[in-house]
Amino acid sequence: MKVLQVCAEIYPLLKTGGLADVAGALPLALKRHGCDVRVLLPGFPAIRRGVAAQQHLAVPALPYGARLVRGSLPDGTACYLIEAPELYDREGNPYAGPDGRAYADNHRRFALLGRLAAMLAEGLDAEWVPQIVHGHDWHAGLAPAYLKAAWRTQGRRVAASVHTVHNLAFQGTFGLEILAELGLPADFYQAHGLEFHGQVSFMKAGLHYADRITTVSPTYAREIQEEEQGCGLDGVLRARRADLSGILNGVDDQVWSPLKDTLIPSRYGAGDLASKRACRAALQREFNLAPQAQAPLFGVVSRLTEQKGVNLILSGLPELLARGAQIVVLGSGEPALEGGLREAATVHPRSVAVHIGYDEQLAHRIVAGADVLMVPSRFEPCGLTQLYALKYGTLPLVRRVGGLADTVVDCALENLADGLATGFVFERFEPADYGAALRRACALYRREGEWREVQQRAMAQDFGWAAAAAQYAALYRRLLP
Ligand code: ADP
Repeated sequence: MKVLQVCAEIYPLLKTGGLADVAGALPLALKRHGCDVRVLLPGFPAIRRGVAAQQHLAVPALPYGARLVRGSLPDGTACYLIEAPELYDREGNPYAGPDGRAYADNHRRFALLGRLAAMLAEGLDAEWVPQIVHGHDWHAGLAPAYLKAAWRTQGRRVAASVHTVHNLAFQGTFGLEILAELGLPADFYQAHGLEFHGQVSFMKAGLHYADRITTVSPTYAREIQEEEQGCGLDGVLRARRADLSGILNGVDDQVWSPLKDTLIPSRYGAGDLASKRACRAALQREFNLAPQAQAPLFGVVSRLTEQKGVNLILSGLPELLARGAQIVVLGSGEPALEGGLREAATVHPRSVAVHIGYDEQLAHRIVAGADVLMVPSRFEPCGLTQLYALKYGTLPLVRRVGGLADTVVDCALENLADGLATGFVFERFEPADYGAALRRACALYRREGEWREVQQRAMAQDFGWAAAAAQYAALYRRLLP
């Protein structure tokens, strides 16, 4: 079964968030389930630098003078890069310029991605023609639309399509004036198509035209069918609920495993938590925090946005400090939130540490060194950091929403008694609920034996990619004739 993955970022070459982790891990996991996987990517500089054995394919003229390159990703997976310097030759964030504003030609940059996905399904590379085109997020949203258009012109279905929503809040919506540039049939612009309140929506195109829709957790699959989390597309998703399912993301064991992780000061397993304590002490030293051991060290590795609940973390700082706890934050995002955290670190240098920026290696040291990892999100499609945290025996403190609700069990007395608890979970996106979870974490920390038991249970949870890959492979199979 030939499967083309279509995405805009991929670990370890280019990453802005969880999407890259998924794109990076899924191909090998799918191969173990009998899929012949290739990946189609825009030729961003960071991606072109990391792809080996590049070879231009002789193909008919492509839009924007683009050229198609075949190569191989660091894990050996075959890939196609779209070489279009005018569109993709920009360093850094793949979606926005250094000023943080989305590129004005993003509709061209990502329409081309979707278009080439469909062209590959039509036989652009005669040696390898995908039967399934699996696109990720709005960047690949037009792929199913181009496939439908190809079906119409060819009078036969060229490939089946799957569209995965990693975050419905980012939709790729553009003014109507771009329509002519897309080269899609005029009647695709309608409410039952890619029209969204008088604009063109790439995400909606994916949701409408794909044969199947998936998202990254079962709970988020339900939530996005409701108004509160539907981002205006809940009606479209309700109409397609028979074709929508949630498949929980996994964790790449090659990247995130406390037993093998070379980025942390000492490796450890569930039976050797002394080494985890060494990671904690090293983290305190690194950030010049007081070397205390009687209250938890909280960690945050996140985009610093309202979605991620960073305002809750700020509002709860007095409570956290009053209990003698500490916090290390790594992330970047909204200036007001960055400023608030920086100020707290200045006022409380022995208890609050903040590193503004993106740092893959520091992320590992925080996940290993912290006692509790906070993910108090307003909404969370899956969330990966709480999964890493569980593996590292760092108890997640999360809101009961999306993938967080599917992966963490609260340390309520009954869950402790029944051997189910793995972290701290609160309901409402409000300081009072968050604060109660914080207090629960501090209280449990004082009960050493119970804390260790919960850590060991957390570390025993299985969030590998095998289960997800099996579900995707089964979904693909059902789509084949
Ligand atoms: P999202 O994709 O919504 O940002 P996820 O939890 O799904 O959230 O994935 C975030 C990924 O990005 C994780 O791999 C996390 O470790 C990583 N990450 C987020 N912020 C940073 C940062 N500042 N430095 C390093 N890694 C980060």
